Amino acid sequence: MILITGGCGYIGSHVNKQLNLAGWDTLVLDNLSTGHEDVARWGHFVPVDLCDAEEVLAVFEKWPIEAVIHFAAFSQVGESVRDPQKYYRNNIGGSLNLACAMQASGVKKIVFSSSGAVYGMPLESPIPETHPTKPINPYGYTKLFFEHLLASYHAAYGMDYIALRYFNAAGADADGELGEWHDPETHLIPRLLMSARMDQAVHIYGDAHRTPDGTCVRDYIHVDDLAYAHVLALERVLNSSCATVYNLSTGLGHSVRDVIKEVEEATQRQLSLVYSERRPGDPPVLVGDSAKARKELGWRTRYVLRDMIDTAWRVINM
Ligand code: UDP
Repeated sequence: MILITGGCGYIGSHVNKQLNLAGWDTLVLDNLSTGHEDVARWGHFVPVDLCDAEEVLAVFEKWPIEAVIHFAAFSQVGESVRDPQKYYRNNIGGSLNLACAMQASGVKKIVFSSSGAVYGMPLESPIPETHPTKPINPYGYTKLFFEHLLASYHAAYGMDYIALRYFNAAGADADGELGEWHDPETHLIPRLLMSARMDQAVHIYGDAHRTPDGTCVRDYIHVDDLAYAHVLALERVLNSSCATVYNLSTGLGHSVRDVIKEVEEATQRQLSLVYSERRPGDPPVLVGDSAKARKELGWRTRYVLRDMIDTAWRVINM
């Protein structure tokens, strides 16, 4: 059985569904602080908070867990700057309880949901995994902390891990059963789609960045492509001794203006735009090099930006 912490969240729910469709038995653990219970309809579900060390240990005592995929974390960069304690307590405290429970019960295989935020300001583009890790916000630090913990646990206790550093997840599953439901929603693509639907203005955070059209460039990746990488990473971590990190990205950059154009085409609606201040801590370009995941995991992406927009738009209108 595979334990999926945070399996009621955006990426975790897509991974849980894919694993079940591929024949895996899963147990979703989620405190429902930001997740939605109705998406835990594949596999089993326990409403547990990782910050409760005793309950986490009890989960490992009760269920025959062979490996963990760890998503459960707060994930809003801006909020992590305003309220770092919330992030350190939950993302570090909760993850530490998980690691302790794994160690106590002899579970030595984990796939970790990390982030391109561990790199901080990019010194090169696309960013390879060998790029220095120097986060520029507490959220990135919490992800980097757990990567370091895993490296230490591997060296000392033989815990095998793969950390997956995501770039900008977007889109929804092709069946329309799952989607992105953040509250508040801060991400560009769902915000643009909601604006298209409600006929509301959308704020563009800066148009004088050092990029070809002045708006920030990001590497958007379809959530089902991300989910598939977890299936491959799980197989690898279960079948070998490994301690490694992979970028999950497409290597293609799209500016905010590119995304707006695609959204307008996909929705056949004209967006009303308000140009406003830059968002603090927004690097102008964030594009990842995923050659390592392609080579070592045999991972391939299937979707392009338009697919992310089309699938997300379909779910929003269901
Ligand atoms: N962005 C924007 N308006 C919004 C939300 C985002 O202009 O309402 C910009 C943001 O500044 C960034 C890009 O869109 O350059 C992607 O932002 P998102 O929050 O989706 O992802 P991030 O790269 O911050 O993780």
